[in-house]
Parts: sequence; structure tokens; C-alpha cells
Amino acid sequence: MIGTIYRCEICRTESATPVRWFVIQCSDVRLQVWKWTSAEADRAGALHFCGEAHAQVYISRWFESFCGAPKLKNPH
Ligand SMILES: [Zn+2]
Repeated sequence: MIGTIYRCEICRTESATPVRWFVIQCSDVRLQVWKWTSAEADRAGALHFCGEAHAQVYISRWFESFCGAPKLKNPH
């Protein structure tokens, strides 16, 4: 079985065996944070984060705008 490589949306760290990563599913009106499960990580639209700090970066951006543009330039 070929493992999927996951990449953090913030720092681009890659891992085939993420540990203590987080998955975020969001729309413009809702954001859900999941502890890492491969079922959620593989779901369409899932975003992957290498740890709590980077999940929080994304959540902060979401508060400022909305989901749907994961390639957002960081204005800071
Ligand atoms: Zn990261």
C-alpha cells in the first residue's frame, strides 16, 4: 500500500506518517478542527496542519476572511 504524503498548509512540511497533526474542514460559515485521522485527512477539501500552532494560524486567517482559498498569500 502506497502511503499518502500530507503537507502542512502553513509551512509546507511533508509527512507520510503524521503524528499529532490536525485536520481542518471549513466553509465560509463553519470551521471544524479534527485530531488527525486518516479518514478525515483523506476527505475532499481537508486541510492538513503539522501541529496546533499552524492550525491556529489558519484559524486566525479564517476569522479574517473565509475558507476556499488555501493558497492565500500571507499579508503579513
Ligand atoms: Zn506547519
